[in-house]
Amino acid sequence: MYRSHNCGALRISDVNTSVTLSGWVQKSRDLGGMTFVDLRDRYGITQLVFNMETQEDLCLLARKLGREFVIKVEGIVRERSSKNANRATGDIEIEVSKLDVLNAAQVPPFTIEEDTDGGEDIRMKYRYLDLRRGPLQRNIMFRSKLAIETRKYLDSLSFVEVETPVLIKSTPEGARDFIVPSRMNPGQAYALPQSPQTFKQILMISGYDRYFQIVKCFRDEDLRADRQPEFTQIDCEMSFVTQEDILNTFEGLTKHLFKTLKGIELSDFPRMSYDDAMAQYGSDKPDLRFGMKFIDLNEMKGHDFPVFDNAEFVVGINAEGAADQFSNKDIKKLTEWMQRPQVGAKGLVYIKYGQDGSVKSSVGKFYSEEFLKGLLDAKGAKPGDMMLILCGETEKTRKQLNELRLEMGNRLGLIKEGDFKPLWVVDFPLLEWDEESERFHAMHHPFTSPKKEDVERMLNGDHETMKALRADAYDLVINGSEIGGGSIRIHDRDLQSRNFDLLGFTKTEAEEQFGFLLGAFEYGAPPHGGIAFGFDRLCAVLNNQSSIRDFIAFPKNNQGRDMMIDAPSRLDIQQLEDLALESTASAD
Ligand code: ASP
Repeated sequence: MYRSHNCGALRISDVNTSVTLSGWVQKSRDLGGMTFVDLRDRYGITQLVFNMETQEDLCLLARKLGREFVIKVEGIVRERSSKNANRATGDIEIEVSKLDVLNAAQVPPFTIEEDTDGGEDIRMKYRYLDLRRGPLQRNIMFRSKLAIETRKYLDSLSFVEVETPVLIKSTPEGARDFIVPSRMNPGQAYALPQSPQTFKQILMISGYDRYFQIVKCFRDEDLRADRQPEFTQIDCEMSFVTQEDILNTFEGLTKHLFKTLKGIELSDFPRMSYDDAMAQYGSDKPDLRFGMKFIDLNEMKGHDFPVFDNAEFVVGINAEGAADQFSNKDIKKLTEWMQRPQVGAKGLVYIKYGQDGSVKSSVGKFYSEEFLKGLLDAKGAKPGDMMLILCGETEKTRKQLNELRLEMGNRLGLIKEGDFKPLWVVDFPLLEWDEESERFHAMHHPFTSPKKEDVERMLNGDHETMKALRADAYDLVINGSEIGGGSIRIHDRDLQSRNFDLLGFTKTEAEEQFGFLLGAFEYGAPPHGGIAFGFDRLCAVLNNQSSIRDFIAFPKNNQGRDMMIDAPSRLDIQQLEDLALESTASAD
């Protein structure tokens, strides 16, 4: 028998009990007469004590234990004379009578404690050691609970969990596919799913009515920080539903998860149209934990300040109480921050509203103090506030101001720890015109339905009309992170074909890639729609953490590599031959 208890279980009420514990040596301290060892497993840490006077041999053996040795001990629970209030087992220790070393360990390359001294790369390489640390163990266990609660909730609503295949044909979600060459079909390849989108729609046509799956998705994108080439979704689809039904169902799921896992009761989620989100926050995923809505300042045009006069759009934010907090030097630094290529602003204009009612501005030369004061008052600024202003082409300027708003929210400490602000963003455009490729792209994906009132215009309208079509598409945003997205789908063959046309598919291409779905639409496809939540991100957001990587047991690094198993790796010549890929084999 390896253990009667785990390392987090014993309390003062267990004093004098004989116990057996197994675990890892976190650290040992040798105090001459006594040796103390902290024994760790995933449940906690228990202090072991070895007494030189009464058990010399045992104590000498204990002194040889290194960090991360795996041991088994037998002993008696004793009350500690100096207690550790920070530890659940801190009132007791084990007076050891027997020690077995189950496995020795090399000195680990970094410390395995709450805070480690190991850098990112080394921790990725020795992921099995990093995963022993408290913060990661808590994250991975949280993730497991989140999956279990998700299943419980969806099961209670009669959702059916169905596994869809991993070796499939391309499903366009806007990224590149990972492909898997087929040995049995030389020259042909499978694609890994970017999502189970078409399969879940087919399941609706097959009558399953409510489907879900906690499922891996694969997207071969250039890796931005905190993107993973494989990630997990809570993927769902429902039949005979409107957008309203889906929003309510998944608002319910989100509330359930917050309540059961965090004890947080969320109130009803507000809704905002895509157009309003862009106009008021410059983002389709606004962080509503603080205000600073955009303020239209086009009335600053026409006052002989050429920069504004020549701009399509002048817009600002009011940073409350910031006038005194930002010196000229701070504003200069902020301007430089805005001018970095990542943001790309040309400049930054400020108007400070002094506590005494005076006005100071970087464009004071061009506007009378009276005008600026009038403007500040009209826009709701108060003495002590600072207005920050950008100008330029509307869409670009909004994006830049979004960056500035988020930065100011952080700098002014407006984000309260533990605050959660969910939001549904609705009424997304159906199509997005891409100037460069001169093509329409699906804003969500090609299976998304236009709003009912737009169907006629979609079937018969001209090019300009297409830009204005709205979709029954929605995103769930929490604290500025996109947690989920979905849409009501097209379930009519003609409308789906029209959408493929608009997206630049020829009839043959559409037939080749999606013939199965178009065909299925002809055999009784019910109205349906769905949503997918980013499971990794949901884990992180619920825990106020920014990195999804810390919630994935075996993540890839920024180059898409698994550092532990060292993948991807070269194929050998035989494999290349088997897969009919030998022509790509390199000379070495
Ligand atoms: N398949 C979509 C996605 O991965 C979600 C959905 O429309 O249900 O974003």
